Amino acid sequence: MSTLTAQKRPVSRPQGRPAPELIFGDLWEYDPAPETADPKLKARYELFIGGKFVAPKSGKYFDSINPANEQKLAQIAHANAADVNAAYAAAKKAFDTTWGKMPGKERAKYLYRLARLLQDRAREFAVAETLDGGKPIKESRDFDVPMAAAHFFYHAGWADKLDYVAPGRKVAPLGVVGQVIPWNFPLLMLAWKIAPALAMGNTVVLKPAETTSITALKFAELIQDAGLPPGVVNIVTGFGDTGAAVMGHPTAAKVAFTGSTEVGKIIMRSLAGTDKKMTMELGGKAANIVFDDAPIDQAVEGIINGIFFNQGHVCCAGSRLLVHEPIAERFLAKLKTRIKTLRVGDPLDKNTDIGAINSKEQLATITRLVAAGVKEGAKMFQPACSLPAKGYYFRPTVFSGVSMSHRIAREEIFGPVLSVLTFRTLDEAVEKANNTAYGLSAGVWTDKGSRILKMSTELKAGVVWANTYNKFDPTSPFGGYKESGFGREGGRQGLLDYCKLA
Ligand code: NAP
Ligand code: MG
Repeated sequence: MSTLTAQKRPVSRPQGRPAPELIFGDLWEYDPAPETADPKLKARYELFIGGKFVAPKSGKYFDSINPANEQKLAQIAHANAADVNAAYAAAKKAFDTTWGKMPGKERAKYLYRLARLLQDRAREFAVAETLDGGKPIKESRDFDVPMAAAHFFYHAGWADKLDYVAPGRKVAPLGVVGQVIPWNFPLLMLAWKIAPALAMGNTVVLKPAETTSITALKFAELIQDAGLPPGVVNIVTGFGDTGAAVMGHPTAAKVAFTGSTEVGKIIMRSLAGTDKKMTMELGGKAANIVFDDAPIDQAVEGIINGIFFNQGHVCCAGSRLLVHEPIAERFLAKLKTRIKTLRVGDPLDKNTDIGAINSKEQLATITRLVAAGVKEGAKMFQPACSLPAKGYYFRPTVFSGVSMSHRIAREEIFGPVLSVLTFRTLDEAVEKANNTAYGLSAGVWTDKGSRILKMSTELKAGVVWANTYNKFDPTSPFGGYKESGFGREGGRQGLLDYCKLA
């Protein structure tokens, strides 16, 4: 008998042996594999203004905690309006006297240096990011930190080629830029903001989010080590009025904000009538659309990555699954089997798939919206995994039987929660996907190239991924439609948002 025929013979399972998914889920488990690199945290972080760490004029500090175990990590300075003023004064002086006048090829050297210094200390930054924000170490190590370094490398490459950003036109920096970022990708959002601004010759005042300031302040150490002229980058930490002071400062020629649509609207209202340039990267409610000819196992993996990556704390998370009716039942069954194998727990463990929810407040928001889903009649599935006793955790959750009017299908949950809807035709899929106030991203899973092209023109989303999800690259512009904001980050288009054209 040939080997081929032998392989084709059906294999019967010996009596008593459990089905493969039970073997995987129940009978064996990885040993804990905690990451041990030293994050080199200080007990107290001051503001970074004019190239130096300075105590806040407010005299106030707040605690940054580790959401995985609720322990205090460090004290962070709370900047008030006077501190923000000092940061803008330092940034203006740096723009007028050094950075704004420096040839692009000289600025490039500093950006390359920052990228390399970040690579040198990558493991330390990854651990700090995971401790402060709760994301799994395998993500901060393999995605956040390398991608942040890649943004500095990419924009260093542009700094001496700015004549090609807008061929036939001359570009010039805007001046001082105010930037406010959220807590879901603290270091990466900092890189998205600072790298293009600096490459173009602007100087910066940046405020990180209250719960995740530590990697921004560690990055300030790299700014010192790279020898950047004082005041080119200033980091002011805080919460409450601090963000509004950064966005509303009269010295800011441009403001760049990433965060919720709600806060984005407040900022836009407060700046209406000023001549500040603005870019807004806001919320999302992306549809991940699976057709019946899609490679099913890869699509299951893509849906999992789309919504459970970083606990669903992703603006472009594929939080709505639209699945073609003929395969809906089979697809949902496979999805549930896969979800049972996800490991939820200690973010520092290299095996963890789903880490800690960023804050107590965010956990309450997720819990509230999930309860609304149950109340509105959707069918909830959660695997029976155990959660650590301390810290903020949420089980991966799938809702089926969801209709477009349900809150879980309309509102951004920003947690590991997937709402499943079905469709019969391509037109119905497009109509459902676009039936949202947002328009940041979408995913299409199908074997047909023509269908991908049609969908990508009809979906009102800044990014459309095909047969993959959550893929990023510094060369590729990212940004939204509708209430997901305006302006682009990354690529040549991102640089255009940081310059004046002559
Ligand atoms: P958020 O509440 O809007 O906060 C974002 C940042 O704005 C924080 O640094 C916050 O400071 C600050 N802030 C709050 N009120 C402000 C005000 N009135 N003026 C100026 N700044 C103010 O959002 P979040 O909950 O941190 O982040 C999650 C949101 O970000 C989600 O909606 C997500 O979709 C969105 N997001 C979008 C993108 C994108 O590229 N489109 C990327 C990532 C995240 P405090 O933390 O100190 O309050
Ligand atoms: Mg924290």
